[in-house]
Amino acid sequence: MKIYVSVDMEGIAGIALPEQLKRGDYFYQESRQLLTRETNAVVEALLEAGATEIIVKDAHASGFNFVPDLLHPGATYCMGATRLSERFPGLDSTFDGAFLIGYHGMAGTERAVRDHTFSSASYQYLKLNGKLVGEIAIDAHLFGRHGVPVLLVTGDDATCREAEATLDGVAVYETKRAVGRHAALMKAPQQVRQELREAVQKAILQQDRCKPYVIEGPYELVVRYASTDIAERKGGDGDRSVKLNGYEVLFQDDDLIRVLGRGM
Ligand SMILES: [Zn+2]
Repeated sequence: MKIYVSVDMEGIAGIALPEQLKRGDYFYQESRQLLTRETNAVVEALLEAGATEIIVKDAHASGFNFVPDLLHPGATYCMGATRLSERFPGLDSTFDGAFLIGYHGMAGTERAVRDHTFSSASYQYLKLNGKLVGEIAIDAHLFGRHGVPVLLVTGDDATCREAEATLDGVAVYETKRAVGRHAALMKAPQQVRQELREAVQKAILQQDRCKPYVIEGPYELVVRYASTDIAERKGGDGDRSVKLNGYEVLFQDDDLIRVLGRGM
């Protein structure tokens, strides 16, 4: 059994503040340890559940957040920046499933720890074919187009709700309950690591419920930028992009990666 694990940082147990998420900030080094230990718990549980090959992608910011020497030896780790067109290196249709660990609610979600879609500084929201989308839907599509279903999503309660509303049959595990964008009722990270064993086991046992998630084209992407400045730079090239108002630009394309690349 081959499983691809994508790990973000906002939904990891013990994390709620911006100072925990950015390289150079006061609490960041501690967060790397929390991230690495929670990732290890998932790898350990996957091996127990019968996984024979595991690739783990560090999907937060620069893609270099794990503490290398603490990583569980039972997986291969993708670290460093990758382009959207190759967001999950090594992924192909031989994988049986994907996990999204430590994820977060899409931009604009109320009471969600660090709600955003790729960047709070750049985007207020992304709408694809009329529907708001976040990283859960986009990443699930990137796996789905290889025929790989997402089996488990973890993060705060808003993340779990968004995953269940997007992906039929997916298993979810709540690491914390959001009280605000930078506040949460937390489970102790050690408890989360223990409970993850059961969550992983359950997700693997229920994998037949999940289907690859694909957003069908052609694509109409509306991006509401964080400032009129960014919208001005991005929009109105006259070629399949239309400026809708000061903040919003519409992009059209048959290819999802291309349309996202143009909008982002
Ligand atoms: Zn992140």
